Amino acid sequence: MIIYGIGLDTSAKVAFQSHAHTDHFVSGNVIFSTKATKFLSHLRKGGFYKVVPFGKSFYIGDYKAKLYPAGHMLGSAQIYIEFDEFSLLYTGDVKWFRLRTAEKSRFRKADILIIEATFGVPMYNFPSPKEAEKKLIAFVESVLDKGKTPTLYANQMGKAQELLKILDVHGYTVRTSRDIIKVARIYEKFGIKFKNIDNDGEVLLRGFRSPKPRNSLSPYELYVSGFGNLKLSNHGDFWELMRIVEKVKPEKIYTVYGHAKEFSKILKGLGYDATAIDKDCCLYCYKNI
Ligand SMILES: [Zn+2]
Repeated sequence: MIIYGIGLDTSAKVAFQSHAHTDHFVSGNVIFSTKATKFLSHLRKGGFYKVVPFGKSFYIGDYKAKLYPAGHMLGSAQIYIEFDEFSLLYTGDVKWFRLRTAEKSRFRKADILIIEATFGVPMYNFPSPKEAEKKLIAFVESVLDKGKTPTLYANQMGKAQELLKILDVHGYTVRTSRDIIKVARIYEKFGIKFKNIDNDGEVLLRGFRSPKPRNSLSPYELYVSGFGNLKLSNHGDFWELMRIVEKVKPEKIYTVYGHAKEFSKILKGLGYDATAIDKDCCLYCYKNI
C-alpha cells in the first residue's frame, strides 16, 4: 500500500521493503530495508537499497521512522512511522513466537496498525515452533528407522534455512538444492551457521514454488508450512495476530493479505475499528477506504 506517497511493500519513488520474499519485492528510486533483506533480495533482483538497522531512527520521505524485527525470516522488519497526525506500525509478514533463524519480533504501541492476515481466522491455531520442532524430529527419526529417506518440502527462502538449522542442532545431515544453499550462505554472513549440508545427507530438503497438495505426499514426506501437514509457520496464526493487536493497542487497524476481510470482521466484533485493505491501495490518498 502507499501512504502519504511512501510505498509499504509497494513500489513507489520512496519505498519500504519488509523482507525478501518475492511477493513483497518493490522497486523505487530508493528502497529502505534491513541489510539481510537487501542481500537476500539481490539474489533475485537489483535496485538501490538504503540499509537501516533495527531500532535506529531515520527519515523516510519527510517522516521519522524506525524498523523493528518482524520475526518472519532473517532480516524481516516492521516499520514504525511518525506522520503529522498519527503514528503507524506496518508489520509486513510477522511472527509472534521466536524462530531459530529470524530476529525475535518486538512490537510497540501505535495509533494505526497495518497487520498481515495470512492466517487471520481462528481455525489457524498452530503448534509453537518448539512443539513443531519436536514433531519434525520425531518424523525424521521414524522414517530413518524404517531405512527410508525423510523428505521435507519448504519455501526455499526462510523456511528451508529454519529446517536446516533445526536439523543441524539435532545432528542430522541434509542433502538440498543449490538455491537453498545460496540463501543459506547469506544467512551465514549474518552469523547463522550450518554445518550439516552434505551431498550424501540423511534428510532430503526440497524447495517448492507453489503449495504442494497434501494428499500427494508419501508417508516419508512432509510439507512444512501453515498450509502443510507440519505446521511450522513463519507467519503468526490467528492467536499470535491477536496478541500483536493487543500489544500495539491501535485506535485503527487495517488488515491486509490472506484472510484480511474475515480478520477485520472478527476484530470489529471485538470492538476494534478495523478495515480490510488491498495490498496495492493508497491510504489517505483518495477516499477509497
Ligand atoms: Zn513472507
